[in-house]
Amino acid sequence: MPLGEFALIDRFFRNCGSRRDTRVGIGDDGAVLTPPAGHELVAVVDTLVEGVHFPPQSPARPIGHRALAVNLSDIAAMGATPAWALLAITLPRADEDWLGEFAAGFGELARAHDVQLVGGDTTSGPLTVTVQVLGVVPRGEALLRRGGQAGDVVYVTGTPGDAACGLALLQGRLRTPATARATELDTLRNRFLFPEPRLAAGVRLRGVASACIDVSDGLAGDLGKLATASGCGARVEITQLPLSESLLAVAGRAAAEHFALTGGDDYELCFTVPPALAPALGGLPCTAIGRLTTGRGVAVLRGDSVIEFSHSGFDHFAA
Ligand code: ADP
Ligand code: MG
Repeated sequence: MPLGEFALIDRFFRNCGSRRDTRVGIGDDGAVLTPPAGHELVAVVDTLVEGVHFPPQSPARPIGHRALAVNLSDIAAMGATPAWALLAITLPRADEDWLGEFAAGFGELARAHDVQLVGGDTTSGPLTVTVQVLGVVPRGEALLRRGGQAGDVVYVTGTPGDAACGLALLQGRLRTPATARATELDTLRNRFLFPEPRLAAGVRLRGVASACIDVSDGLAGDLGKLATASGCGARVEITQLPLSESLLAVAGRAAAEHFALTGGDDYELCFTVPPALAPALGGLPCTAIGRLTTGRGVAVLRGDSVIEFSHSGFDHFAA
């Protein structure tokens, strides 16, 4: 007998995290949640469509992980702490093995960050996963895209470009050198499949960063959005980009730089800090890559020469 909608929700989604400040979770018409006193709610939502955000026939576990991770990344970029998630899922069929793997990927990440799945919607149709996350941040302390000033130092966490290279590997779009090691290829593929949202970094940046954005559509394009929101331009010194050993080994320097600047799916944080506050970043895994300027747009430099650069990030509706 095929699994009914209610049994499906009960079996796979009722146990994705738990929190004491959830008064009513899955099972009623709405969730009833108690935000902590003195905090503001931060609400984010993101949709993953099969064939657009992940390749058709992708395994279910990374889809579950990514659907939550991309939202937690937005929460991190706001300097907030995630608390509750809602999941609207459209499935071609109720395949128990698929749902078990999906819920495992989603639930493991939810529990790791003390997030509870408190509601959602389940429908049939082409595979589409929409997740909303509610987070909390002390009143007035959210990090915004605006607020950067010319002269502020631009930083990025982690090693951008890995995930885009990993996706290219998964799609068989990259010729790998014979010297590439299996561990390096695995590392890159996993950076696409299982991104780790930079929540601890986001919290550390409260009161330090003048502006912040998460890198989902390519570092240069997303930095451009931060700069525009701040009424600034930006310049990036290409030799300062933190390229991982795996990325360099598998893609070579030129392609690695291209992946890091224009590839999507990093889910790192890009943020700006007034030079006087830079010491407050001690111990945070991040790299200074440039400055905000009084100009407009993003200039990518190699030493004194400006590199021709027009890529503005992924746009679903660009011609
Ligand atoms: P309604 O008809 O009021 O929309 P549903 O029958 O769709 O309610 O859902 C019943 C309960 O299960 C609700 O609490 C809803 O939030 C929850 N729910 C439905 N689908 C999901 C899902 N994919 N993940 C988590 N909770 C879900
Ligand atoms: Mg419903």
